[in-house]
Amino acid sequence: MSAATRPTPASEALFTRARAVTPGGVNSPVRAFNAVGGTPRFIRSAAGAWLTDVDGHEYVDLICSWGPMLLGHAHPEVQAAVQAAVARGTSYGTPTEPEVELAEEIVDRAPVDRVRFVSSGTEATMSAIRLARGFTGRDVVVKFAGCYHGHVDALLASAGSGLATFAVPGTPGVPASSTELTLVLPYNDRAAVERVFAEHGDRIACLVTEAAPGNMGVVPPEPGFNRFLAETCARHGALFVSDEVMTGFRASRQGQWGLDGAVEGWRPDLVTFGKVMGGGFPAAAFGGRADVMGRLAPDGPVYQAGTLSGNPIATTAGLTTLRLATDEVYAHIGAAGETIKEAATEALSAAGVPHVVQASGTMFSVFLTDGPVRDFADASRTSAPAYAAFFHAMLDAGVYLPPSAYEAWFLSSAHDDRAVQTVVDALPGAARAAAAA
Ligand code: PMP
Repeated sequence: MSAATRPTPASEALFTRARAVTPGGVNSPVRAFNAVGGTPRFIRSAAGAWLTDVDGHEYVDLICSWGPMLLGHAHPEVQAAVQAAVARGTSYGTPTEPEVELAEEIVDRAPVDRVRFVSSGTEATMSAIRLARGFTGRDVVVKFAGCYHGHVDALLASAGSGLATFAVPGTPGVPASSTELTLVLPYNDRAAVERVFAEHGDRIACLVTEAAPGNMGVVPPEPGFNRFLAETCARHGALFVSDEVMTGFRASRQGQWGLDGAVEGWRPDLVTFGKVMGGGFPAAAFGGRADVMGRLAPDGPVYQAGTLSGNPIATTAGLTTLRLATDEVYAHIGAAGETIKEAATEALSAAGVPHVVQASGTMFSVFLTDGPVRDFADASRTSAPAYAAFFHAMLDAGVYLPPSAYEAWFLSSAHDDRAVQTVVDALPGAARAAAAA
């Protein structure tokens, strides 16, 4: 790993203070540099495509708050709308107009009849699963290895000893009883899905999947895979829950569904959203079929609630963001992504680093392993030392990549020529650093 060439005393001092009062010094584990080594940069401000840390260094931001900042940081119209909303008070605990407008915008874009707002993607998937269980009267949940759905007990599960066996907790603190109704399968594996439904079909409440996995790096569903999942669920009376927390309003205007379901003519039963729909504020949602959503309290018996759900500031930020997320925004992000993907391929090839670039719509990632990567086992072959060296060389050159080899690289409409060129210029040196690792 290359030594940091730019001194970062202010970040180091804050990190020392942070570790004294917060586990690991961070409020979400992946913000730490445990996977790549070193001190996370403490960011003081951000504008457009750029982050400025507390030492005054600037970075092109390829994290974008892990997805939400589709329009870049401090977008003037989003800021103005948020400031106006703040001036009207920050939370009432009553229904508000922005909630209705944001729900209408989501129903317009995504394959859902009704949505309920929550404050995080974790809450969205947790609630969707409860609703699926309440609606079907069944208990078993099927998920895929390498798909992350937030830190929901039942979904923090790793595969048991064999396929089609019930899962074991993926972390201490989750009782075996919380995952013993979860089945974990390899992604993109139709035969495994068929086997598990043949054996347990009448007990399965739902299958939940990332619409296009982004949490093991971007692993696109093979053509027709999501449709196959939806049809298999329907055949067995289970619900198909599509997690679009990351892909929603990012992979395309209509999320991943815009790339497959909308084209092929099918709809998931339930969908979860987060990230972009909150415009950088804590807002998330789950939605779906009217009859399924009708089972939720207060209309139905399945309980779900939240003090700050549909918060007027968060829904205003999300609504303003989505209204500004036009076709041109997606075209711009797609084109910027193409330039960076090509430059990464060229630089890594020239340096002789095994790699594969994978994408779904405008979402992409770079794996430092031979491809293709079609499931978690493939993704796990990524070289950790090579990524750490690559990451630090990029950081030294002023590009803030996700500090983990298993993440998408996020862009925004604010990634203009100067930002993209900064990334392109940094890639050859980083590729050589990866080759030397
Ligand atoms: N689902 C997916 C697909 C995600 O990517 C994430 C977060 N990365 C979550 C759920 C959880 O969202 P949150 O961090 O807001 O709880």
